[in-house]
Amino acid sequence: MELDDHAEELASDLGVDKEEVKSDLQNLVEYSVPIDEAKGSLRRKYGDGSSGGGGAPSARDVAEITPDDGNVTVSGVVLTAGKRSIRYQGDDHVIVEGTLADETGVIDYTAWEDFGLEPGDAITAGNASVREWDGEPELNLGESTSLSLDDGEPELLEAYADQLGGEATLSDLQTGDRAVTVEVAVLECERRTIDGRDGETEILSGVFGDESGRLPFTNWEPAPELEEGATVRIENAYVQEFRGVPEVNVSEFSAVSAVDRAVDVGADVTTMSIHEAVDTGGIYDVEVVGNVIAVRDGSGLIQRCPECYRVIQKGQCRTHGSVDGIDDLRVKAILDDGTSAVTVILDDELTEGVYDGTLEDALEQAREAMDQEVVADTIRDRIVGREYRVRGHLSVDEYGANLDAESFTESDDDPEVRARSFLEDVEGDDLAGLEGVDA
Ligand SMILES: [Zn+2]
Repeated sequence: MELDDHAEELASDLGVDKEEVKSDLQNLVEYSVPIDEAKGSLRRKYGDGSSGGGGAPSARDVAEITPDDGNVTVSGVVLTAGKRSIRYQGDDHVIVEGTLADETGVIDYTAWEDFGLEPGDAITAGNASVREWDGEPELNLGESTSLSLDDGEPELLEAYADQLGGEATLSDLQTGDRAVTVEVAVLECERRTIDGRDGETEILSGVFGDESGRLPFTNWEPAPELEEGATVRIENAYVQEFRGVPEVNVSEFSAVSAVDRAVDVGADVTTMSIHEAVDTGGIYDVEVVGNVIAVRDGSGLIQRCPECYRVIQKGQCRTHGSVDGIDDLRVKAILDDGTSAVTVILDDELTEGVYDGTLEDALEQAREAMDQEVVADTIRDRIVGREYRVRGHLSVDEYGANLDAESFTESDDDPEVRARSFLEDVEGDDLAGLEGVDA
């Protein structure tokens, strides 16, 4: 094959100008690069990741892309672009993650090279590889991807205005979200020292709130603006699961700035059926209403390991062996609302409430009965069969769903009252209707 034929083949495979390819090819051959190697290197240069032959990646609409696609060329506008540092094969890498949209839809991307992507950029990514992430296709922009800036796409930008820059409310956020922007009140904030991957580091952790709800956060490089009572705007945060619930991560790449406005932190907690709540896979701050159908073992008066604070049996910690346990109160109650069931966990304070006594009272009762199970029995008698409204943090693991209660109150809407108020509503409507007819 003549050089000309090689150039022809390459140009048609890669969809680029033949003369351009030919001059590149000529250069390489003049430097004594074997023709096959020269062709391979040009395929990489012009954006075909495959080292052998193979055709050029085909242009795809976002909605058409599937994880089976291999490599694609796709055009659209960058909605979000968030930097994040990850440890990959032992090294720290700064990657950029976000979403790309065209007329047909939105797709997540990860850029392994710094292409300088900014929200609002109209781009064509040639030879982006597609991989499956969490059951969905995701674009990977890497070394072999050719990226070009296109003319602006005002219509697309307008269509996706609400997603540009990742503006979100806390209740919108889900585990896996990247490059999000929120305006929140810092409800709780504490400084902690942790054993990080590079030794001891100081971090901040606490709880954010906005009109839509609350979420816990971690700030990996303490930002001075983050302090209890402050209102802040955070750009380029990401959401990761921690202890079964989504958590906002504020990294070294996030921009934190003070905001001069009051955020009215929603008193309206999301109320869900237990089935819906469990279906979320983990939710911070949710309210459910159901009947306590049982109080599980390990409730009432319990002992904890002084080292790890886990509940121990007969003075034996699974990790620390024979220890001098610390007395504590807790309840694990099964709450059922007809759609599903969840284990509600009450801490010492809430347990004192339902037991109607203090830890001292519980110890006294156990001494008298010479059996600490009497405390759980007392609680069982008080709460089983009653309806409760529970607010707290729900997490789901392989053993089932747990709801860490922040409040646990007997539901005032007893069925009879509910039925009566329903009837009153209906009658009220009818009367109004009748008055209309009379007039
Ligand atoms: Zn222990």
